[in-house]
Amino acid sequence: MTAPTVSFEFFPPKTEKMEETLWATVQKLAPLSPEFVSVTYGAGGSTRERTIRTVKRIVEETPLKAAAHLTCVGATRDEVNAVIRDFWDAGVKHIVALRGDMPDGPGTAYKSHPGGYDTSADLVAGIKEIAPFEVSVSAYPERHPDSANWEEDIDNLARKADAGADRAITQFFFDNDLFDAFRERVAARGITIPVVPGIVPIHSFAQVKRFADMCGASIPATLAHRFEGLEDDAETRRLVAAHIAADQAFDLMNRGVDRFHFYTMNRADLVFALCHLLGLRADDDVSAAA
Ligand code: FAD
Repeated sequence: MTAPTVSFEFFPPKTEKMEETLWATVQKLAPLSPEFVSVTYGAGGSTRERTIRTVKRIVEETPLKAAAHLTCVGATRDEVNAVIRDFWDAGVKHIVALRGDMPDGPGTAYKSHPGGYDTSADLVAGIKEIAPFEVSVSAYPERHPDSANWEEDIDNLARKADAGADRAITQFFFDNDLFDAFRERVAARGITIPVVPGIVPIHSFAQVKRFADMCGASIPATLAHRFEGLEDDAETRRLVAAHIAADQAFDLMNRGVDRFHFYTMNRADLVFALCHLLGLRADDDVSAAA
């Protein structure tokens, strides 16, 4: 089986200690030659400066292609456009364009900012107008919780593709049948951009469960059972998590998937092991440059 193409997602660190951890993670994963690595934009635009700083550091200090996440939240078009131009000038040529959530969190009804971009599709179009960025967008194998039905959800993805998005990256999921059903819906709607599955290796079941509840992703009962009783046993948890993620990824590859986006949680161990199992090997030249 040919090794898949991979990308890695990080979040901007809050403290010096977290920055050290992130940097060690970047250096461990860089030799696997990901297609790109991305840095999230904090909920409500809260990490704007840290996202910009982190993504610029990746561009300046590593050979990796960096993508910056960007949301429409809490800023006017002019402010967002200034960030977009700043990215381009800093050598960041790829943006993950999102609507985002209100500062109070995903449960709060979304309202666009006065004078801001209304939707993620508008943001995609705005980015493409400014410069020939590569643009990725989100997709939801279990529907976005704000969408009234599947038709609305897939129409929204179609608008993002029509506005010029180059690929969609999915919210994490654990049931590959849901991903297959989603791909069928996307194809039936005539959307042709690649849909890349987002995979989250489970460092902490409680944390993933919390995220899943927030974003409307389901957790199969069998998955909960696999972590039962391991709350105080980090070593066994890690072995179990590696097995689960590898199982999911191999099954997706058997279904024709050839690229993955990994939510790293800024930690290298599980993602590195997973990539190794999937056939990726370190490129020593990249290692030397990182
Ligand atoms: P969209 O996909 O644009 O839309 C969300 C919902 O609104 C959909 O249900 C859609 O049907 C509905 N909708 C939108 N426009 C219309 C319209 N014109 N008419 C009718 N319905 C409409 N959040 C962050 O804060 N920072 C990040 O860095 C970040 N990175 C992410 C990366 C990935 C890969 C994913 C999957 C999600 C990420 N998120 C991030 C979460 C995301 O911001 C939230 O899920 C948010 O609630 C929706 O943003 P979106 O761009 O996915 O929304």
